Amino acid sequence: MIIEYHKHNISQEDISMAIIALQSTFISTGNTVKEFEDKFSKYTGIRHTVGLTSCTAALHLSLLALGIKSGDEVITTPMTFIATSNAILYTGATPVFVDVEPLTGNINADLIERVITPKTRAILPVHLYGHMCDMEKIRDIADRHGLFIIEDAAHALEAERREYRPGDLSDTACYSFYATKSITCGEGGALCTNNPTIAEDIRRLRMQGMTKSADDRYSKLYEHWDMSVLGWKYNMDNIKASLLINQIDHIRERWVRRLDICHYYEMMFYGDNIEYIRVLPYNKSARLMFTILVNPDKRDAILHGLQEKGVGVAVNYRAIHLLDYYRKRFGYKRGMFPIAESIGDRTISLPLYPQLTDNEVEYIVDSVKEVINE
Ligand SMILES: *Cc1c(COP(=O)(O)O)cnc(C)c1O
Repeated sequence: MIIEYHKHNISQEDISMAIIALQSTFISTGNTVKEFEDKFSKYTGIRHTVGLTSCTAALHLSLLALGIKSGDEVITTPMTFIATSNAILYTGATPVFVDVEPLTGNINADLIERVITPKTRAILPVHLYGHMCDMEKIRDIADRHGLFIIEDAAHALEAERREYRPGDLSDTACYSFYATKSITCGEGGALCTNNPTIAEDIRRLRMQGMTKSADDRYSKLYEHWDMSVLGWKYNMDNIKASLLINQIDHIRERWVRRLDICHYYEMMFYGDNIEYIRVLPYNKSARLMFTILVNPDKRDAILHGLQEKGVGVAVNYRAIHLLDYYRKRFGYKRGMFPIAESIGDRTISLPLYPQLTDNEVEYIVDSVKEVINE
């Protein structure tokens, strides 16, 4: 049996939408992007959505729109994809890591206040694997210290914690439509905010800082544009937007199937004392990934053993502060964020997507048990 680590959900209907988009004259950022943005806002409940080329772009532009620059500090987690902390580096600011909670792998909100300095400007929590961080506690800390909050919601499209969703308690929430995310157009992203000024700034920043979009310039009598700020080239185009629009209608049913698979994994692994990252009470996890935690001395052998049985696997993630660039630039060493290190040394992600059959899920569980006990 061969079980891919991931399969995307792009349907014939999505492909038909892309064909329509390709056959129209205007294929860059226009009405289809607007249609996607409006529909995405309805889904998230956050007033403004700006379509971008990636979540990395959304994080970068969030930081810029909030005025974060060289010399500033932004508090984040070392247990995430490097996009999170790299986006901070793009602005010239310094990422300041805080260790994570052992059960969820999320930033430990109780450790945030002790690293706040006069240079701290923002907190950038990541809802790891789809489980929301303690946003109420983080909001409270941000209010007391006058800090911004940018959420990396790349895993958290379906997530809720008590009555809150991404974007409710922050300045911006950043989403990814990369190939392995719950809706995808290959590469893409979006920024959501309830603040109209931020939304307007981001629209300018995504397109070189131009004061008028191509759509404004050509859909009516020609108007000259100006450049008011230095922007980037991060605008989503109509082709990408056309692939995403219908996927929004299927988010829930796909989440329900992933949830069923996770419950099966949890039931089977719990009985066998195989550890996995937990979902705490009062949380609706987006269930984007399912990760087990194994003996660090055997992790790589287990990864390879699963691959030999035809089971696709991934490592999400090795702790960022131990990656070569971060070690060299900031002098990080093993022992500085022990919980993140421990997860990074022990984690294995298993396949989790709606097309998995019950047989395949059983095969994955049996393979994990066999390989671990070898
Ligand atoms: C995928 C991912 C990103 C980056 O998304 P892109 O759209 O590829 O830029 C950022 N943060 C996390 C946690 C991710 O998993």
